[in-house]
Amino acid sequence: MKLKKLAAIAMSTMILAASLMGCGGGSGSSEQSTTAETTDAAAFTTVKEGVLTMATNAYFPPYEYYEGQDIVGIDAEIAKAVADKLGLELQIEDMEFNSIIGSVQTGKVDMGLAGMTVTDERKESVNFTESYATGIQSIIVKEGSDIQTVDDLDGKKIGVQLSTTGDIYAVDDYGAENVEEYNKGADAVQALITDKVDCVIIDNQPAISFVAANEGLKILDTEYVTEDYAACLSKDNEALLEAVDGAIKELKEDGTIQGILDKYIVSE
Ligand code: GLN
Repeated sequence: MKLKKLAAIAMSTMILAASLMGCGGGSGSSEQSTTAETTDAAAFTTVKEGVLTMATNAYFPPYEYYEGQDIVGIDAEIAKAVADKLGLELQIEDMEFNSIIGSVQTGKVDMGLAGMTVTDERKESVNFTESYATGIQSIIVKEGSDIQTVDDLDGKKIGVQLSTTGDIYAVDDYGAENVEEYNKGADAVQALITDKVDCVIIDNQPAISFVAANEGLKILDTEYVTEDYAACLSKDNEALLEAVDGAIKELKEDGTIQGILDKYIVSE
């Protein structure tokens, strides 16, 4: 039964590959691609055979950060669980947050998993899986700051991480001239400490980590925006999207993802 199904999948993949090549749309030979079977999904291909290559920006604790040479955190653990389910080895590539979507689009990596918020604009470039966590855009200020709520931000210098939703909303709401963009969230926080900016808008969990690691900072009680995190994959690889999406759904249903979130997420 299972064998028959596999054979049927293999056959339909070959037919699809043959028809694509017939249309002049195929690139590379089908021998180079990896095929595997998920618990119940169709065959899929990955950039490197037998490997799930994930792009992230490893300066976003507790979702991704370095412990020695290793990238650890919520996304790393979820990706490992997804890779295990799909029978793949996980490889993580650390890059600027700003490069993740492009790397997914151009097929350098299989997926982006980076505490990335699902937005309509990003959906034009990549596909998203179902969401696995919620994020909140928070505002960090120095203790004693005259910024007490989100209503006090007008005319203030706002530090953000380049191309994040915090950046996009801050530019929309307060004007690009008031927003300083940094490659890493930690650099924006450093700018706050050295008074180059008056506040930092960033996701709540990294905000909690940064405030815990640096004296004299606090997070405002008022939340700026609530959003959903998901993995992003290429629009040209629907089969892998389905496989990863299916794995995430199963990992949500069996409590694995909640267990990983509970291990890392702390309240203020
Ligand atoms: N959630 C934010 C976004 O998607 C920030 C993600 C990050 O910096 N890794 O833009």
